[in-house]
Amino acid sequence: MLKYLQGYPESIQVQAQDLIDNDKLGLYLERKYPERHQVQSDKALYQLARELKEQYMRNAPPLASARFDAKLSPVKHTLGLHTYQAQVQGSKLKTRNSLTIAALFREGPPQFLSMILAHELAHFQEKDHNKRFYQLCCHIEPAYHQLELDTRLWLTWRDSQK
Ligand SMILES: [Zn+2]
Repeated sequence: MLKYLQGYPESIQVQAQDLIDNDKLGLYLERKYPERHQVQSDKALYQLARELKEQYMRNAPPLASARFDAKLSPVKHTLGLHTYQAQVQGSKLKTRNSLTIAALFREGPPQFLSMILAHELAHFQEKDHNKRFYQLCCHIEPAYHQLELDTRLWLTWRDSQK
């Protein structure tokens, strides 16, 4: 049932289930995150991702592209997809970082989009979900952990509306 919350402690899952059962999850999210972001195109996504990267991860290789993908599933791909392409250009080996996130994140509050971008950008420096990875996430987005949980609650709520 709570497929998006599987990695969380039981107490959190129980609270979430309680909000769902009492039909209060939507209201909880709406009150906490009333805004909607305007980032709809791949171009706008790239601009936002690039700004974050320049501000917080100056030393990582440049961001080559960013796009929304309707085929990506937030469950299967956790929160998005990050690809690394090593391209041989002349004698130099160049790393290109590109970033793809599930198209459903066109909807939703701006905070969830920054959390997802922080997650994907952090993967440029750390591939695994380890301590250093989450430190990077929090460096880019200080409220990272709360926002990841709330994004997962939002995904749960979306599914319950189908
Ligand atoms: Zn990840």
